[in-house]
Amino acid sequence: MRRVVVVGGSVGGVHAAEALRDQGFEGEVTLVSADAQLPYDRPPLSKDVLLGKTDADRILLRPAGWYEERDIDLRLGNAARGLDAASKTLSLADGSELGYDGLVLATGSAARTLTLPEGSPEVHVVRTLEDVEGLRPELQPGRRLVMIGAGFIGLEIAAVAVQLGLEVTVLEYAPSPLARVFGGEVGGWYRGLHERNGVRMICGVSITGTEPAPGGVTMTLDNGETVTAEVVVAGIGAAPAIEWLAGSGVELGNGVLCSPDLRTSAPDVVAVGDIANWRNAAFDEEMRVEHWTNASEQGRHAVTTLLGDSAPFSSVPYFWTDQYDTKLRFVGRAAGFTDSRIESMTDDKLVVTIGRDGVLIGALCLGAPRHLARYKAAIQAKTPWHDSAALAEGLPA
Ligand SMILES: Cc1cc2nc3c(=O)[nH]c(=O)nc-3n(C[C@H](O)[C@H](O)[C@H](O)COP(=O)(O)OP(=O)(O)OC[C@H]3O[C@@H](n4cnc5c(N)ncnc54)[C@H](O)[C@@H]3O)c2cc1C
Repeated sequence: MRRVVVVGGSVGGVHAAEALRDQGFEGEVTLVSADAQLPYDRPPLSKDVLLGKTDADRILLRPAGWYEERDIDLRLGNAARGLDAASKTLSLADGSELGYDGLVLATGSAARTLTLPEGSPEVHVVRTLEDVEGLRPELQPGRRLVMIGAGFIGLEIAAVAVQLGLEVTVLEYAPSPLARVFGGEVGGWYRGLHERNGVRMICGVSITGTEPAPGGVTMTLDNGETVTAEVVVAGIGAAPAIEWLAGSGVELGNGVLCSPDLRTSAPDVVAVGDIANWRNAAFDEEMRVEHWTNASEQGRHAVTTLLGDSAPFSSVPYFWTDQYDTKLRFVGRAAGFTDSRIESMTDDKLVVTIGRDGVLIGALCLGAPRHLARYKAAIQAKTPWHDSAALAEGLPA
């Protein structure tokens, strides 16, 4: 293999390029990214960058000189538009073509958004640095912000906005925040956290009408309430950025369909990060994971696969979210859970375990730093649900 091309300049792509050199690959490494900036980290965008506590130049994944030192040919601001897997050729937005012997697909996700009637304010999303640069000047004290969607990113943005002095209303279709992920009790805890901090939380509602109002927009809800705001932000999830692969010979579904070692259906092409859909032996489940740690670990693993290994990528996913002065850490899975148990629940501590079909599959820990490692090991060991209650024994109450 003489040339490896990595498409996508973010967590998955940078870790893949790094792993190529770490694993002794001496051929050409080219990193192609639609982003015009040096690869940067996304989690701080909805936290300290939006809050104004961290500058954009402090969130670079690697310093500028790193790419040259590692002899990584960086092609920024040049999206891949198409792939011909049969001839191993990529076509790029600038009209050029790029051949490869090995290819890493790491194009991540794009934020979903919605359209408001003409005359309404712009609907902001937070996925890229440009998004934050567009939203940040709007976050002036006293203005009203409506956050549509109470998932993790929506809640982080709501927390930032209220701390910056805006009047914040969160609208959520489910009966409580995060309900679709963790159920009502954890959702209720988050609702309480935000309400204590001054956020107005309206759950179990749909928007039935929107009309421009002076300087903003008024939304009518199906419970009859109306909400007027000058700033509108949507946090309604993201979709894998795979349209450009249509007709390429790479099999697509909910993301890029991969074998357990992260190979795609095309020869010498692997996929990593938010787009990769693979069977994770740790849960015997096909999944696509939109978490930072998954993208970095898969970036490294997929390169091992590309260079000739075929070990499955088996992993217990890990995720965190920072809201106000709380940090929630989650290990494992929550999808399709059949059991959950509140191990601790106070204003500053939350420990919840999650089971599916008689096995412990997930644990959520906030204000309980010593619990996480124990639960991760127990999830890895596929601990029976009825034995998992004993795991909290000996840990600080
Ligand atoms: C605001 C925000 C906050 C987050 N907070 C957390 C958190 O607290 N904890 C956590 O675990 N996870 C968090 N995440 C999720 C985490 O950042 C993602 O899971 C991770 O960035 C995925 O990495 P990736 O490399 O797969 O894709 P992405 O980070 O989405 O990057 C994809 C890259 O591919 C490029 N690209 C796309 N299409 C093309 C193309 N056709 N050609 C070339 N390049 C292309 C993009 O420009 C981008 O550079 C957050 C995400 C966001 C957006």
